[in-house]
Amino acid sequence: MLDCAIIGGGPAGLTAGLYATRGGLKNVTMFEMGAPGGQITQSSEIENYPGVFREGMTGMDLMEPWPNQCMHFGLKHEMKEVKRVTKEGENFTLHLDNGDTVEAMTVVFATGSTPRRAGFDGEEEFFGKGVSTCATCDGFFYKGKETAVLGGGDTALEEALYLANICSKVYLIHRRDTFRAAPPTVERVMKNDKIELVLNASIDKAFGGPMGLDGLEIAFKDGSKRTLNVPGVFVFVGNNVNNHVLRQADGSYLCATNDNGEVIVDLKMHTDVEGLFAAGDVRVDAAKQVVCAASDGAIAGMQALDYVLERQ
Ligand code: FAD
Ligand code: NAP
Repeated sequence: MLDCAIIGGGPAGLTAGLYATRGGLKNVTMFEMGAPGGQITQSSEIENYPGVFREGMTGMDLMEPWPNQCMHFGLKHEMKEVKRVTKEGENFTLHLDNGDTVEAMTVVFATGSTPRRAGFDGEEEFFGKGVSTCATCDGFFYKGKETAVLGGGDTALEEALYLANICSKVYLIHRRDTFRAAPPTVERVMKNDKIELVLNASIDKAFGGPMGLDGLEIAFKDGSKRTLNVPGVFVFVGNNVNNHVLRQADGSYLCATNDNGEVIVDLKMHTDVEGLFAAGDVRVDAAKQVVCAASDGAIAGMQALDYVLERQ
């Protein structure tokens, strides 16, 4: 039986492993279906992780030393997908993709989130090279330039306002002519003369070359077309937390989640199930930043350690 199973090997899961093992837990395994590092490894540049900034640092560069450091104190990595986690009695059972099961005293759930894709041509090709899902992270690269935002929810409008402070102009592309964002936010957008609304419109295609995105072909509901020559487009069409692992055979979730499927935790990353902690993007009110995910992971790792020590 594992002392602690960590599901997900992004910044949250890796840091949970570091803190749990360095604090003295002997038998800790992190189940990460890919290479450890998480979604930040898709980012072409990161400059807001404190202490390690250098010009042109990619997300991959940032994460490269993490696995070695985090595994230095005994954390093991199994490159397996966890399909489901259940709890019978005091302990947890992880059901792996190869059919195996693993028992654990405590679980840190750190599976992250996946920004939804809008589905236009070129979205995948230019993802991380002009197509982004994080204005806080990538907006600065378009300082003084024109850029575009896709979506009509709170995130799209708030991020359009954020980008309008940095960029010379922001085209806000939305498929309808009314927004689902909160009215005060809509009002602020309407009043911002750096934001041009491109309504009843969708992105047909993103185009560019080896250096990245050059622009977008826009299609309007009335059949007309327009080309926007922008080096960046921010896609905010919703986010999915990766919570399916918590789904039980009867369709319920192992622990409490909110309406968006985010795992409800307290300030110590405790879920409402004893011994189950959640950290990073998957938890409620996550700031969706590497430094915050790492912080959550540290807290969850320490709490998992305390939980196991109390049971021994
Ligand atoms: P994730 O990084 O999502 O890691 C979760 C891991 O769990 C993944 O590796 C996944 O493979 C694994 N996993 C999921 N389900 C399972 C399963 N069932 N079994 C096994 N493994 C599983 N943040 C910043 O602070 N600064 C930036 O500049 C920045 N730029 C970004 C740019 C891009 C393009 C993107 C996409 C995000 C960016 N972010 C940035 C956000 C940042 O990447 C996330 O907030 C952070 O990675 C969240 O960490 P996490 O550990 O919670 O989850
Ligand atoms: P959201 O509310 O689901 O909005 C997604 C937007 O993207 C919608 O406008 C939708 O259009 C559009 N969209 C969806 N799929 C698309 C596609 N394939 N192509 C083009 N457009 C597409 O997502 P969100 O803005 O990320 O917000 C998620 C939740 O968090 C919401 O409950 C929101 O209120 C909340 N939130 C709150 C705050 C705040 O309180 N300050 C801030 C951010 C988020 P339609 O409108 O036509 O469906």
